[in-house]
Amino acid sequence: MDCNFSALACGGISDLQAYQPGKPIEEVEREYGISHAAKLASNENPLGPSPLVLETLRGHIDKNLALYPDGGAYRLKQALAAKLGVAPQQITVSNGSNEVLELVARVFTDASHSLMYSQYAFLVYPLVAKVIGARAIEVPAKDWGHDLEAMQAAVTADTRVIFIANPNNPTGTWLRESELRNFLDKVPGHVIVVLDEAYFEYVDEADYPDTLKWLPEYPNLVVTRTFSKAYGLAGLRIGYAVSHAQIADLLNRAREPFNVNSLALIAAETALQDETHLQFSVKANRVGLQQLTGACVERGWEFIPSVGNFFCLNTQRNAAQIYDSLLRRGLIVRPVANYQMPQHLRISVGLEEQNVSLINALEEILR
Ligand SMILES: *Cc1c(COP(=O)(O)O)cnc(C)c1O
Repeated sequence: MDCNFSALACGGISDLQAYQPGKPIEEVEREYGISHAAKLASNENPLGPSPLVLETLRGHIDKNLALYPDGGAYRLKQALAAKLGVAPQQITVSNGSNEVLELVARVFTDASHSLMYSQYAFLVYPLVAKVIGARAIEVPAKDWGHDLEAMQAAVTADTRVIFIANPNNPTGTWLRESELRNFLDKVPGHVIVVLDEAYFEYVDEADYPDTLKWLPEYPNLVVTRTFSKAYGLAGLRIGYAVSHAQIADLLNRAREPFNVNSLALIAAETALQDETHLQFSVKANRVGLQQLTGACVERGWEFIPSVGNFFCLNTQRNAAQIYDSLLRRGLIVRPVANYQMPQHLRISVGLEEQNVSLINALEEILR
């Protein structure tokens, strides 16, 4: 029998490019015959999760694995609601915030709609548009970040969802309270605006907005956050959205019944209790980012200023070779040619000694 399943695949699937994650440490060590590789490629917390989380997980592993998790995530929603000052009915818990980004798109767009995002914004947005078959509107960036005026002007009658990453990955750029408010004031109510705040905890800027407070005013707003980054739980896959309760209800209908596993639920609930570890991680990141970007400034290396736990270095040449030379030295960073940024490398902030190794390696390679 002749197989051409590509021809059978729906819509934009057959020419879809799969999301390219950072190379796993084990793979690099295996391929290059090295050990102690450092992964500075996926914006993970180099300090890992809270010790309290690890202890709680150890206690739980014996108990509950044969049982389905609480599909309603009751305890986590209670804890999040109390912490964030919202109602539990406004929360959608998801398998990484990635899942809830896709859920929003699935609930509100189909092939007859358009979905908008910015040039250089998180690649999951165009991926989601393609999977759904929605028309993608990619708005040119301004200074590597979102051009909100252009985005607002590009809204059409069929636009249902706008994704905005604040701060943005991979560029690390961010939007101020006044700009965003101005934007939300102008966007029509039939457009769901998703503010993807995966790096929310890291940002320490006076006019970075506390957008959850805006929800009563803008019912079309969906704010997404995650336990993958500052909380150090990327491996367990858990994130959430906060929105109008009606939107949350729709998202909850569309998700899989048991989309989040029981260990992730207990880990997230426990992580919320350890504010000390979170603040420790955030501070360490600030110091590490300063260490890395300070070293770049000293050496005259150009980069895009970032407020996240990563930044983009402009290598001034095709970055693929530099990426490969770093890999050989056991330093995994992220090429961003797939973001149409072939000269840049995205570098996640690591532990102090990893940052030193990276700077030293770059110095050798770029010389
Ligand atoms: C890492 C990241 C996410 C989500 O990651 P999850 O692990 O799925 O929660 C979402 N948006 C942006 C911009 C990110 O960088």
